[in-house]
Amino acid sequence: MPSEIFDVERNDECVCGSGKKYKKCCLSRVEKIQTSILKAIDEEVSVTTEGREFLRIVSIMFGIKLNVDEAKADIERLSRIILQAWDEEEQGLIGSDEELMETVEKILSDKPKMKSVRIPGFLLGEIDTAADDEMEEVVTEILDSLNVEEFLIDIAYSLQTDNYTDEEIKIIFHWISLGLLAGFARGFMLPILNVSLKEIDEAKEKLEKIFDRKKELNQDEMDEFFRINAEYPVFEEYLSARAIRDVQDDLNDIMDGKISFKFPFYIIYAFYLKLFAAIVKMFGDVINVLGNSDNFSNYFLDTVDEFLQEEVIFEKVYDCIHNTLAEAKENTDDETLKAKLSKVLDFFSLFNSEQFFVMKNIFFNSLHGYLSKLPQPLDDSGITVKSIDDIVKPEIFKQYVSYLESKGLKKETDYLKGIYNEIENEAIP
Ligand SMILES: [Zn+2]
Repeated sequence: MPSEIFDVERNDECVCGSGKKYKKCCLSRVEKIQTSILKAIDEEVSVTTEGREFLRIVSIMFGIKLNVDEAKADIERLSRIILQAWDEEEQGLIGSDEELMETVEKILSDKPKMKSVRIPGFLLGEIDTAADDEMEEVVTEILDSLNVEEFLIDIAYSLQTDNYTDEEIKIIFHWISLGLLAGFARGFMLPILNVSLKEIDEAKEKLEKIFDRKKELNQDEMDEFFRINAEYPVFEEYLSARAIRDVQDDLNDIMDGKISFKFPFYIIYAFYLKLFAAIVKMFGDVINVLGNSDNFSNYFLDTVDEFLQEEVIFEKVYDCIHNTLAEAKENTDDETLKAKLSKVLDFFSLFNSEQFFVMKNIFFNSLHGYLSKLPQPLDDSGITVKSIDDIVKPEIFKQYVSYLESKGLKKETDYLKGIYNEIENEAIP
């Protein structure tokens, strides 16, 4: 049996995703369940090594806290079902593999919380574009890149929150056993793959009805589009992956310095203040961290992510990128560039999850561009920063804030002041 399935030590991060250590989070619940099931089962049959491993996995699945009010582990029921399942396996009564797979597929489609047990959509795009004779190879590659453990927590969540008959739980247990057996993980993955592909087809069909090669969608059609995306998360991922692939080359060309995105300085300023706030919170001062480039780049990347996810920033950055592209398209006489910009604008016009990464890259490049050209003026304020340290200096901050106020940008001013206060509060012991 592969040992990597829930190979979790006491001091490791808990599998439930709480971020706490396992021993301080779910360990005691898991151990309690494991001991109780083992005791109940031990009275009936002697448990093999494989059997013990299976019980450990089931105990983790029912013992971890998944935002469920209480662990719904009914020991008596679980023990009975496990005994039945083992008895069937021993007597060869499970039925054919196809029957098992079909039932599993039905459970995967019908139980609401099983919706998240899917092959990631960006991988499914690879299957869609593979030539017929490469198909099997691509499928194998995808299935090999995934491991059973990634799915067990989601299955546990469904087992704890959806309603299951004893018979259905037994089927799930047969299916999981298959995933735990060395060499059989493919059998475990296949029903997940089948359901994922089936849903993409379903969603495509629904979408084709509303799109019908139209360029612009009206509000009702947009709503329908978002509803389909929400109903089929795997499809949304898949579409995003396709969208980015279609536009990647054009995007690279445009990013290659042909277009420069100028963000209003207060966005760049807000970002650096956020970054300093995060660093000061952790280390008490900025200067030492600035000297250590490893630390610095970690904080930098985390902060870009967090920062862009703030709604007010996301909108501003999105608008700036969109407007820059639209303006460039309007103003260029280069027909090739115009066509490329058109495609990239299409990519930005319908929401997809890849956009965030593209926006992050554009923003990241712009920050980099800004810093590499220091000293730089701050918008048209007449203030100039000479180095990155200048940005957090109180006098520069004060001057820039009064410049923003004089422009009537109150919301922006308040936002910057809020972050600056955070740094001051943290920095003063
Ligand atoms: Zn936990």
